[in-house]
Amino acid sequence: MSNNLGAQGALFVVATPIGNLEDMSPRARRVLSEVDVIAAEDTRHSAPMLRHFQISTPLTAFHEHNEQSMTPELIRRLQGGQRIALISDAGTPLVNDPGFKLVRAARAAGISVVPVPGPCAAIVALSAAGLPSDRFAFEGFPPARTAARRAYFDELREDTRTLIFYESPHRVAECLADMVSVIGADREAVLARELTKQFETIRAGTLGELCEWVKNDSNQQRGELVLLVHGKLTTFQQEIDSRSEKVLRILLAELPIKQAAALAAQITGIKKNRLYDHALGLAERRR
Ligand code: SAM
Repeated sequence: MSNNLGAQGALFVVATPIGNLEDMSPRARRVLSEVDVIAAEDTRHSAPMLRHFQISTPLTAFHEHNEQSMTPELIRRLQGGQRIALISDAGTPLVNDPGFKLVRAARAAGISVVPVPGPCAAIVALSAAGLPSDRFAFEGFPPARTAARRAYFDELREDTRTLIFYESPHRVAECLADMVSVIGADREAVLARELTKQFETIRAGTLGELCEWVKNDSNQQRGELVLLVHGKLTTFQQEIDSRSEKVLRILLAELPIKQAAALAAQITGIKKNRLYDHALGLAERRR
C-alpha cells in the first residue's frame, strides 16, 4: 500500500464514479482491493460496482443512521492496525454523504486519514457550467418545504459567489420557481443533469428560462441533478453591465483591446485595468 503507512491502521476516504465507471481511478481501485474492509454507505448499492472492478474486499455498512454507533467500532479496528476504506454510493464521501464524524474521530485519535480523490458532482458541474469559478459556495440540498426554501434563498440572494445546489428531480421544478420569485428571473443559472451518464444535459439560461424549460419537459425532472446559480453581480459588474459595457463594445468593434479599454476608462471613469479584463472576457466570448 502506498503512502508508507507500514503496518499502521489508516482510513482511506475514496471517491468513486458518479455514473461513468471509467471515472474510477486506478489508485481508488487498488486501495479498495488492498484494504481490510470497505465501509460503504449502502453495501447492496456498491456491490455491483465493486464486482465490476473485481474487488472482493469485505464490506461493512456505514450510513447516516449508524454513523454514530459504528464510528467507535471502526476507530477500534483502525487502532488495531486495520486499513479501512470509506466509500459512499457515488462520488466523494462526506460531500453530502456520511463520514464527517468518522474522519474527525480518526484524526483526533492520531490515525492517518488518506484522501483518494475522484469525482464530486458539485465540482464536475462547476467545471463545465461556464459560471465564475474563482469563488463558489456549495450549499447541498435546499430545504424541501416552500416556506423554508424561500427563506433560505432570501439569505443567499445577495451572495456574490456562484452557488451550487444538489436537488431531487421531484423538487427541481418547485425549487426553480422559488428561485425565480426570491432571487429573480433574470439571474444566470445552469442545470447539470445526469453528469457523466448517457443522458448528460448541461443547460445554461436565466432562472426564468430554466424554470419554464423544466416545467414543460418532464424529462428534465428525472435522474440526478446539480443547480448552479450565478452570484449577485457586484456594483462594479452592474456598472459595467448597464452603461459602460455599451461604450466598451462600441470601441472594441473599432480598436484593439488595450486602446478600447483606455478610451472607455476616460469616458466612464472606471479603472482601465478592470475594463481591460472585462474587454478580454468580451473578446473571448466573441471568438
Ligand atoms: N457525495 C456525492 C458527490 O460527491 O457528488 C453527492 C452525494 S448526494 C447524497 C447525491 C446528489 O448529488 C444527487 O441528488 C445529485 O444532486 C448529485 N449528483 C450525484 N451524481 C450526480 C450526477 N451524475 N449528475 C448530477 N448530479 C449528481
